[in-house]
Amino acid sequence: MILHIDMDAFYASIEERDRPALRGKPVIVGGNPKGRGVVAAANYKARSFGVHSAMPTSKAMRLCPEAIFLPPRISYYSEVSEQIHQIFNHYTPQVEPLSLDEAFLDVSGTEQLFGDAVAIGKQIKQEIKTTLDLCASVGIAPNKFVAKVASDLGKPDGFLVIKAEDVQAFLDPLPVRRLWGLGKTGDQLLEKKGIRTIHQLRHQPRLLLHQLFGKWGEQLWAFAHGRDERAVIPDRAVKSISNETTFEKDLDEIDLLRSHLVALTEQVAWRLRRQDLSAQTVKIKIHFSDFKTITRSQTLSQATQTTHDLLRVAINLLNAALSKKHRPVRLLGMGAGNLVSGKRIQGELFLDEALQKQQRIDATTDLIRLKYGASALKRGGSI
Ligand SMILES: [Mg+2]
Repeated sequence: MILHIDMDAFYASIEERDRPALRGKPVIVGGNPKGRGVVAAANYKARSFGVHSAMPTSKAMRLCPEAIFLPPRISYYSEVSEQIHQIFNHYTPQVEPLSLDEAFLDVSGTEQLFGDAVAIGKQIKQEIKTTLDLCASVGIAPNKFVAKVASDLGKPDGFLVIKAEDVQAFLDPLPVRRLWGLGKTGDQLLEKKGIRTIHQLRHQPRLLLHQLFGKWGEQLWAFAHGRDERAVIPDRAVKSISNETTFEKDLDEIDLLRSHLVALTEQVAWRLRRQDLSAQTVKIKIHFSDFKTITRSQTLSQATQTTHDLLRVAINLLNAALSKKHRPVRLLGMGAGNLVSGKRIQGELFLDEALQKQQRIDATTDLIRLKYGASALKRGGSI
């Protein structure tokens, strides 16, 4: 069985945990509401106003002016993430992180030691609660896709187990947008054909899905049948690392796309650094609203694992790919390939430790500026 473990409102929950004065109030972590940033995380109180992550912060401000807006502290959240991963690693080495707060675990090899997948899921959830005072939602199922849907549906504080024989009955009544990567455009295309549920979708001829979505239609078909062959692959065993986001609404504003690219690059760089890997190649992937896909990549003269270096290349690739008038974007992905072990930062040999530290701080500062604007963040309410 596969576990999908996803922290509830991760960044916002950490802020609430650390500052009791925030409890019970809407908390939004993200870019400056007066700037062009996006919401990185919103707690459930803020979500009750319609705020959700990846929404422009300015819109979140209009929906929930009394919210407390906080700038993200990514390096701190990474430390907390590391603590969560220590808990995961205690139960299995087969952990595939998707982002700072989300991972797949394959426990089939360690069930002898710790009990079955359900027992392991319960122990992990409990341990995160008692040692870190944070809440995780857990989905347990025979494969990745179903496990992820299960953890999502259970949120917040979820714990949902879908046995192999129950997979189809679990998926069938769900709306098609639960299918991985469908996005709003795909949802609307299906809606026009009167296809709303997974049950309806899997009774369509495969040809229709192919006509609507191209090759990717096959994948949809498989998901709708509860099939997903992808294995859980720990980052230390991979040839490339990538993260992607499917937008709720297709995006055409390049500024917003850049903000999303920063967030994706942060995740990829974090995953590289924790395995002490460096990337020689930077890739981006763009799915347009018409389901056409392009990928762009660039090979670097020196492999790197710093967010800053990776981002510079990724942003250039994005700018070049979208230089002309482009179609709205449905999905954006960022990846690091040609991985080598260790840090290979140019000139590093000549830097002493203090200088290196400074370099890291500089990179972080640059990043925050790029993503969230130069002006200081202002709180929408008072703590
Ligand atoms: Mg989460």
